[in-house]
Amino acid sequence: VLQKGLKENFADTQVSVVDCPDLTQEPFNFPAKGICGKPRIADVGGVPYLIPLVQKEKVYDLNTVAKDIELPGAFILGAGAASSKILGVNAELIPIVQTKSEKKPAVNGSYVAQINPADKGCLLEKYSSKYTDCEFGLLANLYASEGQPGKVIEVKANGRTGELNFVSCLRQILEKQYGEKPVGMGGTFVIQKGKAKIHIMPPEFSTCPLNTDEDVNNWLKFFEMKAPLICQPVIVSRDPGFDLRVEHTHCFSHHGEGGHYHQDTSPDSVQYLGYFLPAELLFRIDRPQETHLVGRD
Ligand SMILES: [Zn+2]
Repeated sequence: VLQKGLKENFADTQVSVVDCPDLTQEPFNFPAKGICGKPRIADVGGVPYLIPLVQKEKVYDLNTVAKDIELPGAFILGAGAASSKILGVNAELIPIVQTKSEKKPAVNGSYVAQINPADKGCLLEKYSSKYTDCEFGLLANLYASEGQPGKVIEVKANGRTGELNFVSCLRQILEKQYGEKPVGMGGTFVIQKGKAKIHIMPPEFSTCPLNTDEDVNNWLKFFEMKAPLICQPVIVSRDPGFDLRVEHTHCFSHHGEGGHYHQDTSPDSVQYLGYFLPAELLFRIDRPQETHLVGRD
């Protein structure tokens, strides 16, 4: 199914079932070996806590989320916002956390991408270089598993011929195939070659309401970042009415760049290599009561 759909958007694609590579190795350097074992997705908070105006009191803890999704000690990957209470500023969080269990303390391998006050460029840092907690703020889309090795879906896609980004393409294939039935997937992929359009939220929350996608795009800071970028996608084929963000991907690198993935900007030369697993369960945590569809890209 994936192979056929990808061919409509990429020149050269290959989908196979493989053993998950050891994710404790380069370029991932994750605290867990794999993405297998009780795979599940959590959508926590939401964009309505960020816009039109921020609700700074919305803070969460990944160790608590792991308990809430009935998987204490879970290995969590995904895309979220950093806690402005901890950082003092607004920033992108690239969560990569082995949460705490009865036997072991948490290992936080997350990254934070923020606007560098010195040059207004991207400042990417390991979360653990400054902080010891596992908090985040406002919203996060998370893929959780036991972090075990095992069989995963390997997706290779080179040379983009269509308009869709890699994640949207995968999501729309699932939506077309499974229709009403929501199918979720998470994991990790590497943009091995090319460049990508990435945003980072500014350090200050907007003091005037952001009411449209245009307002949001004027507020966000956009960059073109270089491969290799290691990206953590969370995908749900369609929203069964839980006010979900159906795709959300954050990335980091080993050359100081990272943030929220929109699209590659080098369609001819781009190379994607990803490892995915469908989720068995979906959890919706602290769903906003008042909602809208602005800023979901
Ligand atoms: Zn994001």
